[in-house]
Parts: sequence; C-alpha cells; structure tokens
Amino acid sequence: MLTRLIPAALAAILALPATAEPIPVVATFSILGHVVEAVGGDKVKVQTLVGPDRDAHVYQPTPQDSRVLAEAKVVVTNGLGFEGWIERLIKASGTKAQIVVATQGLRTRKLADAHGHAHGGSVDPHVWHDPRRMAPYARNIAEGLAAADPANAEAYRINATSFAGLLGTLDSWAESRFAEVPQAKRKVITTHDAFGYLSERYRLTFRAPKGITTDSEPSAKGIARLIDQIRAEKIKAVFVENISDRRQIDQLAKEAGVTVGGRLYSDALSGTDGPARTYEALFRHNVSLLTSGMLQN
Ligand SMILES: [Zn+2]
Repeated sequence: MLTRLIPAALAAILALPATAEPIPVVATFSILGHVVEAVGGDKVKVQTLVGPDRDAHVYQPTPQDSRVLAEAKVVVTNGLGFEGWIERLIKASGTKAQIVVATQGLRTRKLADAHGHAHGGSVDPHVWHDPRRMAPYARNIAEGLAAADPANAEAYRINATSFAGLLGTLDSWAESRFAEVPQAKRKVITTHDAFGYLSERYRLTFRAPKGITTDSEPSAKGIARLIDQIRAEKIKAVFVENISDRRQIDQLAKEAGVTVGGRLYSDALSGTDGPARTYEALFRHNVSLLTSGMLQN
C-alpha cells in the first residue's frame, strides 16, 4: 500500500503548476532598491549594493557584489553617471541579467557651472528628489522587470501605476508645505549639490560646498564665500546629509555663527530605525525639515 501511495503522492505534487519563485533583482543603491521593491512586489527579491546611509558616488564594489550580479535576472541602475563604478562591475561579473536604467528618457537637469567641479559629467543624477520625475522612473523599472519576467508584466505595470499615485500625493503635499515659506526665505545650505531637482520643482535655492558628486574637496575660497553668503543673507537653514561626514558642515556653521538644523536624506535611505526607511518617508522627512529650517531664515 505504502509503496503505491508514495509514487501517487509524488505524481500529484509534480502535477501542480510550478510555484513561481521571486526573480533575483539587483538595485545599485537604497532609494532605487525601495522603488524596485514597490514596483516588483512579491514577484522580485531585491538586493541593494549600496545600503542605507552610504554614499553611492564613491562606492567601491566588492567581489561579493560581482557574484550577486552574476546571479541576478535584472540589474537596475539610476544612470546619469551616479554609479560611476557600475559598468565595470557589470562587465567583470559576466552577468546575463537584463540591465535597466531607471532614468532612461527622463527630462534631466543640466549642471550649473557655478559650482565649478569638473566631476560627474554634465547632468544632475539626483532625479528622485522630484516626485513627478519618479513616475516615469518607476515605469522604466516596470518595463525592465516585465521584459525579464513577461508572465508578471501586468503586475509590474499595476504596481508602477499605484506608486505613481503616491508620487502625486507627495508632490501636492510638498507644494502646500513649501507654500508656507515666503520666496525670499527659500534658501538652504547642505553638503553637496543633491537637491537640484527639488529646488527646480519647488523654487528653492540650495548652496553647497561640494558639487553634484562627493568625491572632491571644496576650496577654502569656496567655503569662505559660502560663509559670507550665510552671514549676509542670514541663512539659518543649514543641514548635514546622511551620506556625508558632518564635520565640514559643522565647521562651516560654526564659522558662520549658525546652528545645524538637522539631517537631510540626500542619496540614501536611513536604516530601519531611522526616519527615512522608504521613499515616502525620506521625501516627507526632507520636506518637513526644510520647511521648518527655511522659516527660520
Ligand atoms: Zn549625490
């Protein structure tokens, strides 16, 4: 009886449709990783190379990253020179994964030369600070996942659409928050030029000792000019960034006679115990902190 039962049970199991395992997807940095999770839902298993509070501009890939890439079915990058190390890593890993560039086809912001840094190419990669640009970003991710996993294409598109709904909510919320701040007070100092898209969208002015990438040291002259501006324009909204060493901003604030107003999440999410664990939390945290900081100006 038993000998007959076992093959029968086995046959029944084999007859079941194969349970679809989530596909292995790699995202280069934490903010992108979160958006990929939102779009991929339970159909994907996302691994992020540059984790929370870490700086993707100056990241040095490890041999482990290369192995993770080799096993991935999809690799999602931001593009626009943000991850300067990714092309070499993709090549070195020999991965056969579908490569998705989330900023593909997005309207981008050309760099202001006022900052004078010769790094990072000519386009600002920090598109995630404008929620309206994140809808096509999420759509690109959905199409990339769909190409690698056509069986779930519909699910990816539905998730991208619902993420776009959240983005619309965040955008109108931010608009009303920033409307509380008179135009003349909308000035902010932070570590590097990460907030160009936010400032363009909501008409803010950001100044930073560092350019759009973090791999250069500002000149003493540049710092002195910034201190003069803080004093002359009575700017109180001076912030550190989660990915950067805070000593430079601390020193700058001290010399300008102002207090650092808190921590902005510029290029990475926070850890799970922090205030910016998701894209929405990051955006709301930054907008709230900026609004209250600028009102002090
Ligand atoms: Zn940056």
